[in-house]
Amino acid sequence: MKVNNESLASMSGKAGKLKAGLCAARCSPLSARPAAIRFFAALLLAAQCAACAGWPEFDAYHGTITREQFIARLRQVHDAAGAFDAYLVYGSNDVAVFSTPARTGAPLLTLKFAAAPESARPLPRTFKRAADLARMPAPPNRPLAGIRIALDPGHIGGEWARMEERWFIVGRADRQVQEAVLARLVAMHLKKRLEAAGAEVVLTSDGFEPVTDFRPEDFRDQAEREIAAHPPRFAGCSPLEREAGLADAVRKRQELLFFRNAEIRARAEKVNMVLHPDLTLCIHFNAVEWGPDRRLAEENRLLFFLHGQTMAGEMEDDAQKRRLLFKLLEQSHPVEKAVAEAVADHMVEATGLPPVEYWAAPNVAPNPDHAYVFYRNLAANRLFDGPVVYLEPYFQNSRDVYRRIQAGDYEGLRTVEGRLRKSIYREYADSVADGVIEAYSAFRAGPAAGANNHDI
Ligand SMILES: [Zn+2]
Repeated sequence: MKVNNESLASMSGKAGKLKAGLCAARCSPLSARPAAIRFFAALLLAAQCAACAGWPEFDAYHGTITREQFIARLRQVHDAAGAFDAYLVYGSNDVAVFSTPARTGAPLLTLKFAAAPESARPLPRTFKRAADLARMPAPPNRPLAGIRIALDPGHIGGEWARMEERWFIVGRADRQVQEAVLARLVAMHLKKRLEAAGAEVVLTSDGFEPVTDFRPEDFRDQAEREIAAHPPRFAGCSPLEREAGLADAVRKRQELLFFRNAEIRARAEKVNMVLHPDLTLCIHFNAVEWGPDRRLAEENRLLFFLHGQTMAGEMEDDAQKRRLLFKLLEQSHPVEKAVAEAVADHMVEATGLPPVEYWAAPNVAPNPDHAYVFYRNLAANRLFDGPVVYLEPYFQNSRDVYRRIQAGDYEGLRTVEGRLRKSIYREYADSVADGVIEAYSAFRAGPAAGANNHDI
């Protein structure tokens, strides 16, 4: 499930979310509040942008990309529909980025372009790109030597799992399904596999405690302000029910600001300021919307995300513009895409599962090169620097996956649901490790680019 999916309301159908314990109360807030959702998404980044005058992180990126490359990358990854153009004014060798479509006043940033690919300035060496790796031969049997990989197991879990709504159980005697536990089991096996291939592996979270120092009560005032600014509408409620509904909305907002926004921001800070990985893998399990009878689903699908597809409404926020531009200019996309596609290939081979089918969803764009890999502007893949692959295979509440989770983690093969198979955690970890190894082996075998270490 998405750790930080501020666009949740626009997801539908087979890509829908698991909502454990969700009940249809007689008096409940009306759903689908896209404006409010965008507002909260903006708040996620607002704190970061409070002192962002000058945007100093861009100083090292002037002259690293041509105008044609910049526009091509915008269209391919970040803004297929061209909504960002409303904020841009192109000069003869630069582009000015404005806060509003009026494009008046001082620009937020004026980025200088390279005249030609050959004369582009070298990129800051913040992570190893394919062109760097082509100059780094690997020792025998250690294809990931010299690569630092961060594993980000999704959600907090433990005593916070119920608040996160990332758990469920079907039979009274069953093993509880808690996504944070599943993700950490995968991380444990994946770490071993990647280290055996020579990688240095670091974790954003290795227990069931929050990475953030904040707690829900720290967000009381903020939650009250936000709910007051965008109050939920209640249909057919008495004044008492309305009061109770508002109090509940504030509580839920407090919790969300803690376990989603603050937790992701803390992990991003750790990745960007402490861990400095060459690649980050966000480990999640997907789920499908429960039916009215809450029966386990028969279908089971795979899904992988690359960063991209910032929505027009998100671009109204300067902090979102800033991250869109940074992700474009740091050029994490080529590594991210190659790794995601190789991982997806290996997982399809191991499971034989079909891809998630997205219906009309403005927050998602398909990748024309791979049916299982989509572009999406999630908080984690936006806020983490460097290449990020967001893994979301398997529907936890499908009958097959549920039985495999009940079977637990084990060595070798066992018959589960009539088929001889690995534990689901090892199948997941092995597929990801095989994909990462394949992608990095290809980078290392590729042609060394010019001295400016560009992958474009
Ligand atoms: Zn998740």
